[in-house]
Amino acid sequence: MNKRPSTVSRPYRQDAILSKNFAERAVFNCIVNRFEVSAPELINYTAMPGSTVAGILNRLVARGLVTPNGTEIRRRGRPSIRYRVCIPRPVCSCQVEATQVSAAVFDSNLDLCGLDVQPSDPIKSVAAAVEAVRKVVGRLQASLPKSIRKVTELALALNAMRLGGHRFVSSVLPWADANFEKGLAKTLGMQVRIVPVFGPLIAEKQKLKGQYPESIVRFQVGDGISAHMAFDGESYLGHTSLAGQLGHIIVDPNGPICGCGRRGCLEAYCAGPALHRRLLEDMTSGVTTLMDFEKMPNISPRVSTAGLYEAWKAGDSYARGFMRPVFEQLAWSLGIVMDLMDPELILACGYLLANRPEWVEEILHRAQEWTLYSPSRSIPLIPGHASLEDELRVTGTLYFYQFNE
Ligand SMILES: [Zn+2]
Repeated sequence: MNKRPSTVSRPYRQDAILSKNFAERAVFNCIVNRFEVSAPELINYTAMPGSTVAGILNRLVARGLVTPNGTEIRRRGRPSIRYRVCIPRPVCSCQVEATQVSAAVFDSNLDLCGLDVQPSDPIKSVAAAVEAVRKVVGRLQASLPKSIRKVTELALALNAMRLGGHRFVSSVLPWADANFEKGLAKTLGMQVRIVPVFGPLIAEKQKLKGQYPESIVRFQVGDGISAHMAFDGESYLGHTSLAGQLGHIIVDPNGPICGCGRRGCLEAYCAGPALHRRLLEDMTSGVTTLMDFEKMPNISPRVSTAGLYEAWKAGDSYARGFMRPVFEQLAWSLGIVMDLMDPELILACGYLLANRPEWVEEILHRAQEWTLYSPSRSIPLIPGHASLEDELRVTGTLYFYQFNE
């Protein structure tokens, strides 16, 4: 009996292409983790002799795993070649979030060929998600030159945790299950694989210069709220991959229902969709504000909270009053991160905090009250730097390689 090959691809085995040589793996993983790195930096990060690193680099380049990507003039005017990881074939990376679908195609050198983003109302079903991805990927492919248009593999990043086998859990994508992967593969005619969830944290790590801080937390406020962490350069997901679910700390057991099924989680008060919902309620009850409430019912939480930010910056008293308790609760949760993990670095990320330094500052100064021995102990919160392109590039890399250090 002929069995049709599955369109859902199996995990790519890094073992198959890398030798068993420990030093070679260490160098390769270091390049994957840093995205682009020079030989002197590799020597510094891996603590290996220069001749060993040079030999390994030559072998990795010869086998097409790594490519020299231009030179950079370093101190004393000495040029230094930067190396980056290559992928075996071009890949389409796709990120499905509750309120946005984005896709990008990267060539074998991981250079961006095209990017398309579609903000949306919260996606509520597998069918709606498949349709949203089909639209974005179709539009993206149509915009690309013919030579790269025929990408056959899709790396999928989902804000959902796979609890072994077919079972997924997600508070922001409660519909997510294994049928999504299969449905997409069938609709797009591509091989589809869901990659692990810590891509955005790796994208932030790639933006850091020098040795990694010993401990890093990605404090994310967007469709959900999370505090994913890395220790000694390695992401820590927890025993069941549920570490860092800061948004599900219960603020009030009688509060609004959360996507996780419980009541009164922090996320049900302070994440983008929760703010959007309250803005809609206020709109119907009538308030005086600079915000353009007319357009509200038809826009996504990303857009409505951007309007809220503009009004807040302009000193709008409604926006100021609206955000005060939000800052207070986020500051409280940041205090928990501090007292529980005591990290060396915290990066403020997610669409509610990215490129909004004033809001990060509001949370930071309020968090002192909730943090042990503050203000004499400083809270190491700084804005994150990874862009959507950076995150999608990591997703594409994760499709082919694991990230270990
Ligand atoms: Zn919850």
